[in-house]
Amino acid sequence: MGSKQASFYESVQRNFDKAAALTNLPKGLLAQIRACNSVYQMRFPVKIGNKYEVIEAYRVQHSHHRSPTKGGIRFSSHVNQEEVMALASLMTYKCAIVDVPFGGAKGGVKVSPRGYSPEELERITRRYTVELIRKNFIGPSVDVPAPDYGTGPREMAWILDTYMTFNPREIDAAGCVTGKPVNQNGIRGRTEATGRGVFYAVREFFSYKEDMKKLGIEPGLEGKTMVIQGLGNVGSYTGTISQKEGGVRVIGVSEIEGTIVSDTNIDIEKLLRYRKQKGTILGFPGTKTLKDRKDWVKIECDILVPAALESQLHKDNAKFVKARVIAEAANGPVTADAEAILLKKGCIIIPDMYCNAGGVTVSYFEWLKNLSHMRFGRMEKRFNQNSRTMLLDKIETMTGKTITKRDRSIIAKGADEVDLVRSGLEETMVTAYANIREISKRKRSVKDMRTAAFLSALEKVANDYMTLGVFP
Ligand code: NAD
Repeated sequence: MGSKQASFYESVQRNFDKAAALTNLPKGLLAQIRACNSVYQMRFPVKIGNKYEVIEAYRVQHSHHRSPTKGGIRFSSHVNQEEVMALASLMTYKCAIVDVPFGGAKGGVKVSPRGYSPEELERITRRYTVELIRKNFIGPSVDVPAPDYGTGPREMAWILDTYMTFNPREIDAAGCVTGKPVNQNGIRGRTEATGRGVFYAVREFFSYKEDMKKLGIEPGLEGKTMVIQGLGNVGSYTGTISQKEGGVRVIGVSEIEGTIVSDTNIDIEKLLRYRKQKGTILGFPGTKTLKDRKDWVKIECDILVPAALESQLHKDNAKFVKARVIAEAANGPVTADAEAILLKKGCIIIPDMYCNAGGVTVSYFEWLKNLSHMRFGRMEKRFNQNSRTMLLDKIETMTGKTITKRDRSIIAKGADEVDLVRSGLEETMVTAYANIREISKRKRSVKDMRTAAFLSALEKVANDYMTLGVFP
């Protein structure tokens, strides 16, 4: 690598400043929005084998303009304070863009999950939760964690159980964390939510014929080629849903063990099963392995999806990118330096704070479900089903024609929780895209989608601060 790369936090702050310069908001207000309000750095001992290890961990609450604050917990050996601050800042903007009424937060535990047994990870997670409880950094009305890189429903269940042990009489305790298993106060559709949201974001981008014409891109997703870096939660659902519902061809996948390519279409569902069996994506039938794993950036495709970690496209490799569209499924995968190079080349970057907001959107639905103590659809599903059946019966008697069993089951179906979650997520992603697009059109000075997304967030967060009377 060449000279110093912009750090993740620097990139977020530089992008903020670029957008802030285009607003008329008071300087003090902008400084308040930009700053991280509370940074809790902790060290705690956990018994691993017959020794004690001192674990380094963080929880950052970036903005309290709305309560609770919200953001995932990352388990990774690369965790550091600046990274968590960058991720917490992004959460504030992300929530504002998709109209989810939370402030931004993020947590990080500096451990590599591969290096510990499930029992050890459970001890670490529970001890981290206790630290959060002790400092009032968790609670349904205070700060609500969720999964992120290296964590999933299992860790969220441990967090819930620990929180409930310390707060046995709190009626809304289940809302202290989201991304929980469905049978432990979770919500159907949360696990796939971020990837599904990425799919909606990409689909929306390609759906505007007039915009595509200007860019010289064929509208529509069908047949477009995609390369994915990182086949974890976000990357795998982005791939499967884009293939199944968008007709996208995935022609490259990059993971820790290497990068595979295909001339046709890599079936992501089959690849996931293969990886589970063999422990690697390499050797998957119908694919070739690239000599250098890092060459995933060079693959010629329509949509490049970095879905692993931040700073994957940086100033030294951005020039090799051949894709026209980069969908930021991960947080911060493109550094500010790389972005300048990519924009110059005519690339379009669908920014993280919009592109991967599906996770927090469905987390919001889960939190609402926990506070209402009722599954979505429970009250109205049967009622809708019965009244639609009556209507279909009436149509049959009036027209003398028979409606097929299949049509009946489709038309009369009452919405289940997962149907409502998907529909709410789709609505959110479609509306947010329209809002970002409208800002790009209204403000001539806005040249890229990230700046437009930032402006959408800044307008809303600033408005909240003014409503609070903090900046009259
Ligand atoms: P995950 O742990 O489920 O998966 C990440 C995958 O990336 C793993 O399979 C890992 O092996 C792979 N990976 C790591 N480094 C790599 C490299 N250099 N090259 C190729 N592959 C690599 O994590 P996730 O939850 O899917 O999160 C991925 C990204 O999406 C993160 O940036 C996270 O902050 C962001 N994100 C996640 C969610 C969520 O709901 N989980 C929501 C919003 C944003």
